[in-house]
Amino acid sequence: MLRTEQQAAATGRGIIDLVRAAGVVGAGGAGFPTHVKLAAKADLVIANGAECEPLLRVDQTIMQHQADRVIKGLQAAMQAVGTTRGVIATKKHYHDAVDALETAIRGKEGLSLYLMDSYYPAGDEKSLIHDVTGEVVRSAKLPADYGCVVCNVGTLVNVADALEGKPVTDKLVTVCGDVPQPATLMAPLGTSMRAMIAATGFTGDENTHTVIEGGPLMGHVRADWDMPITKTTGGLVVLPKDHHLIAQITMTVERQVKIAMAVCCQCNMCTIMCPRNHLGLQVEPHKAMRAIANGDSKLLGNVNSVLACCSCNLCTHYACNFGLTPGTVMTNIKNELARAGVRPVTEQEITLDTSLETKRIPISRLIARMGLSAYNRPALYNPAPVTPQSVTLPLKQHLGAPAQPVVRPGERVSKGQIIARMAQDALGADIHASMDGTVDAVTDSAIRING
Ligand code: SF4
Ligand code: SF4
Repeated sequence: MLRTEQQAAATGRGIIDLVRAAGVVGAGGAGFPTHVKLAAKADLVIANGAECEPLLRVDQTIMQHQADRVIKGLQAAMQAVGTTRGVIATKKHYHDAVDALETAIRGKEGLSLYLMDSYYPAGDEKSLIHDVTGEVVRSAKLPADYGCVVCNVGTLVNVADALEGKPVTDKLVTVCGDVPQPATLMAPLGTSMRAMIAATGFTGDENTHTVIEGGPLMGHVRADWDMPITKTTGGLVVLPKDHHLIAQITMTVERQVKIAMAVCCQCNMCTIMCPRNHLGLQVEPHKAMRAIANGDSKLLGNVNSVLACCSCNLCTHYACNFGLTPGTVMTNIKNELARAGVRPVTEQEITLDTSLETKRIPISRLIARMGLSAYNRPALYNPAPVTPQSVTLPLKQHLGAPAQPVVRPGERVSKGQIIARMAQDALGADIHASMDGTVDAVTDSAIRING
């Protein structure tokens, strides 16, 4: 049983304990456990409502319809990290969300809005911190080293729920693309992607269409539509199999290397347009392309030229005129270096691009360039949850180690009941049942519940 808000309100430590007990993780990205993030000391908490991936509407919907919950979660996060300053950063043109947030912060000390233009990737943590504070978070440093903690607005709603003893059991997801009625839907964690897509009136399947989990730029193609949505799923983008974006995302590494060898002219546009390069972090994707084309890792340059990449894929989907994939190449090399234990080094000096503002890529141009204009439609909010017959809850929906099951097949469980728990000192988050039902299966990777 979780403790109540009143019991915990007195201390930041109490808030952190409630957030941990509720299994809250970053809802907008890699799933970093929120109780760990809130254990830092900071001067400022930034609520990230920039939502820069094209076609997705989750954060806009949350800010418009749950502004008071966002603010409640933000104030709790501020208390936990020991500050009285909070900023909600979002796009100027999300008019309904901005109106709701302005009403929600009225009369509340220490809170303000930061309104941004519509560019990609405005939601990148380092870009956002630079926009709001003027600071550049150097490689191998954390936002907290600059007095900042950044939380997605959806995460903050989960923090507000945690204060009231409600664990994370549901997720808001935009289902869009080549579907009859794009929608932003609430669903129990563990609902299959197939059920989510069917809820938009789509009647096709994997033979004609491909689904990207996440946004069109940073998401991952999922071959199996029976895979579940998790705490970090923000979007399901359904595209015809022959859409050029799918061909680009699913290109094999061998083919990427072959094309790089044959076509990359080292024009440098990928580096010129790289947002992490604009911040002065020396990211240079053209060098990675040169290195793989020549099979010579020395051509990579210093490790930060790869490790400071945020995998935004702007270089692949916008900068390169030849259909090459420098973003994927960078991500692959970055992952290999990380597995080998190579760590970034902190830059002593950085040279911020003084014309950075003029180099930002408007989302509308990005959408057109990616061939997504026809799919850029409203995704209607439906607060009535999708009701699946069963859910499959992965034991690892977060950064860190998997949670350990604490239920057995045949056991009855109630929504909100803990079903997998983290070891006390391990990085990760507990998992809770997302529906009432009977545990059908417990494997090394997931727990299945039938309703
Ligand atoms: S990957 Fe594309 S943009 Fe980058 S250097 Fe090669 S051709 Fe130019
Ligand atoms: S994916 Fe490309 S554009 Fe984005 S940060 Fe990495 S190198 Fe730069």
